Amino acid sequence: MARTPLLAGNWKLHGSRASNRALLEALLGGLAGQPAVECAVCVPFPYLGEVADQLRGSAIAWGAQNVSEHARGAYTGEVSAAMLREFGCRYVIVGHSERRRLFGESDSQVAGKFAAALDAGLTPILCVGETLAERDAGRTEKVVARQLDEVLTTTGIEAFAHAVVAYEPVWAIGTGRTATPEQAQAVHAFARKRIFRETRILYGGSVKPENAAAIFAMPDVDGGLIGGASLVAEDFLAIAKQAAQARRQAAAAKG
Ligand code: PEP
Repeated sequence: MARTPLLAGNWKLHGSRASNRALLEALLGGLAGQPAVECAVCVPFPYLGEVADQLRGSAIAWGAQNVSEHARGAYTGEVSAAMLREFGCRYVIVGHSERRRLFGESDSQVAGKFAAALDAGLTPILCVGETLAERDAGRTEKVVARQLDEVLTTTGIEAFAHAVVAYEPVWAIGTGRTATPEQAQAVHAFARKRIFRETRILYGGSVKPENAAAIFAMPDVDGGLIGGASLVAEDFLAIAKQAAQARRQAAAAKG
């Protein structure tokens, strides 16, 4: 079974009702002829309802950027997976490095969020990746294994049949510095050996129209988690085009 590439935009803390509407209109128009790639946007919580309305019936899925590991209770400010699901949410990013680093999320908390998302019928996009110091110390595989293993221990490997993994080297996020295609491929292949073979593994970290084709040409890269470039319609559309092209080339090579 071939893995359909997924391009997920991570809007982070950006947007307004007007700019979201304009961005999605441009994406809906531009993605109409791009069926080889699945696209999604992960938006700030307050916009979920409006984005859902605008995307209803379209080929663009939508998701959130965080979710509580708790189902209910006295957790002020938290949003549960069931609440997201009630709105028709499909994806949720868990364990983004900004949440791990800036909000102190631990591996076990991320595993709890991953499990909560699956329990509610959402597809978690689990982010893993090393810092520059960890890479320089030759610890990339150790870090990625630790982050994956915490989730594997909590949910079991079967859960990865219903999940997406994103390899995001921390040093490449929002820095303009991208992993080389070979660096990305090596970590993707390493991660794939630990999880369900058909799980999509996205690359994230300063993906732009100029570097997307080479990254997506790697056999274990199944699309991207796109931050900054997902806020610019023409960039996101250009990246989607390259993902579709890589997919077609891979299919042609297989015969
Ligand atoms: C991200 O936020 O997940 C990300 C990959 O950001 P950027 O594309 O801006 O590096």
